[in-house]
Amino acid sequence: MTRTGEIIALEEQHTSGLNTKRPIALVCGQGAVVWDADGHAYIDCMTGHGVATLGHCHPEVTAAIQSQAATLVACSEVTYNDQRAALMAELTQHTPDDLKRVFLCNSGAEAIEAAIKFARFFTGRTDVVAATRGFHGRTMGALSATWNAKYRDPFLPLVPGFSHVPYNNLAAMEAALTDQTAAVIIEVIQGEGGVHPADPAYLEGLRALCTQRGVLLIVDEVQTGMGRTGRWFACQHFDLLPDILCLGKALGGGVPMGAVIWREALGTLPAGVHGSTFGGNPLACAASRAVLRVMERDDLPGRAARLGEKLLTDLRAIRSPLIREVRGRGLMVGVELRQRATQVLRALMERGVLAMPAGSTVVRLLPPLTIAEEQLDRVVQAMALALSDVASRREEQ
Ligand SMILES: *Cc1c(COP(=O)(O)O)cnc(C)c1O
Repeated sequence: MTRTGEIIALEEQHTSGLNTKRPIALVCGQGAVVWDADGHAYIDCMTGHGVATLGHCHPEVTAAIQSQAATLVACSEVTYNDQRAALMAELTQHTPDDLKRVFLCNSGAEAIEAAIKFARFFTGRTDVVAATRGFHGRTMGALSATWNAKYRDPFLPLVPGFSHVPYNNLAAMEAALTDQTAAVIIEVIQGEGGVHPADPAYLEGLRALCTQRGVLLIVDEVQTGMGRTGRWFACQHFDLLPDILCLGKALGGGVPMGAVIWREALGTLPAGVHGSTFGGNPLACAASRAVLRVMERDDLPGRAARLGEKLLTDLRAIRSPLIREVRGRGLMVGVELRQRATQVLRALMERGVLAMPAGSTVVRLLPPLTIAEEQLDRVVQAMALALSDVASRREEQ
């Protein structure tokens, strides 16, 4: 048996079954490349669900983790900590306006969960309006805001007070708000739902509507944050000021981490109403500080914007009957197909590129923001070849 075969057999004996896994076992990564247990290299446009924005094992993130691991790892928010204090200060240098108050946690769903609680607390109201195709995570509160019935239905009843309205439809949103609405939760570019950007006029109207009705606007940037779309936060493309901003995924440079950041004007929260054992631990904070340092020094948001433009142009130049539309912002790009994405994802993998689905028909590319231009060219070539592989296989049938 190959080494891959052994790993798969072992993992299959104990795995939860919750993931449809590709039949490869990744064992190491460097920059935009990952290797499987049999030595095959892949250009990684999955980056662990958009986590590795600096590529794999970026030397400065690795050094920060190594050094902090030998300094202090276990330290909860019962005391102050040098890394946590510095991270809060450095992170909020990049957040818009008075988004300055920070709660640190360990994942995207936890950030959403906390944001929902905080919105209830700040407003004294209970209800939350979310959007169709929205994805906010899978814990009970976050799942209540998530739209996809496949994720929700096995776990009903969910948290009461949640409703969903069509995305990019201001009239529907206005009709859904009541005097019990605490918050609207929205992704400004829907990720999991198929890489759908919001309409700028919609967001402008939504901001005004929320302000007028005393409803807090929670912007879920778990996927779009941290430079992915070509700005530090995607809301900055739209001049949109959230009341509460949720981060996760890329924030910790691969170390599990989430954050809720809210407006100074909302004030702080009373002791004890929420908390997290691991939230704000020095290891994650040190890793995150390294991410911020590299992003700022190397202007990775600017790089994502520039490379993203080129990637969109190059993908749009591919002539394939399978492509319906190519869309995205920065290095968050979706190729919507006229068929399910599965076959194209497999063909891409055979061509040495790992990509993800978004919804059932969209191939989603979330490469590192540090990816070399030549590697991105290879991704486009692989896409063209994979599409023609699938199209010709279809003709043979
Ligand atoms: C991934 C994701 C989440 C959930 O994050 P987890 O860390 O998987 O819990 C929430 N919102 C959005 C937009 C995401 O992409």
